Amino acid sequence: MKKLKILEIGDKKLWEKSKPVKNPGSKEVLDLAKNLIQICKKSKGVGISAPQIGKNIDLFIIWSKPNKRYPNAPKFGPEVVINPKILSKSKKEVKDFEGCLSIPGIRTKVFRAKNIEVTYTNLGGIKVKQKFSDFVARIFQHEFDHLQGILILDRANPKEIYSEKEFKKILKTYLTKRR
Ligand SMILES: [Zn+2]
Repeated sequence: MKKLKILEIGDKKLWEKSKPVKNPGSKEVLDLAKNLIQICKKSKGVGISAPQIGKNIDLFIIWSKPNKRYPNAPKFGPEVVINPKILSKSKKEVKDFEGCLSIPGIRTKVFRAKNIEVTYTNLGGIKVKQKFSDFVARIFQHEFDHLQGILILDRANPKEIYSEKEFKKILKTYLTKRR
């Protein structure tokens, strides 16, 4: 199998709008989903989208699990999300740090709706309607953005962009404040 690489910022493919998946049940889609899950695991991400490996189709993975920054993150996934639509977003937005596997070494604060209601087709080919909140809602909105060709830097205040080193410096204070 051809080795798949994560595209990094600067690659114009990341700014393209993706197209709907026509055949969610096909072997091709299954293989792609499996690959994305593997890459997500390897890179210790909580999500990854097909455009990030150069496939501009409406498909992404959500894989939420507790981590250093979000010790209370729910366990959800790996869930394969195909042809998603966001039906509604709460007016209440939350600003929090995000990173992106396509923008290595950078963290930035991003506003996201606290609660969302969505539909998508899962890997079994079944159309589901789901409500997500907080961390999982954040991952969903981040990955959904990738399908529109939107990156976190598009949503960032330039004064709230941090290098990994600077991010680590403030992480401690930040975590204390959150409690
Ligand atoms: Zn990303």
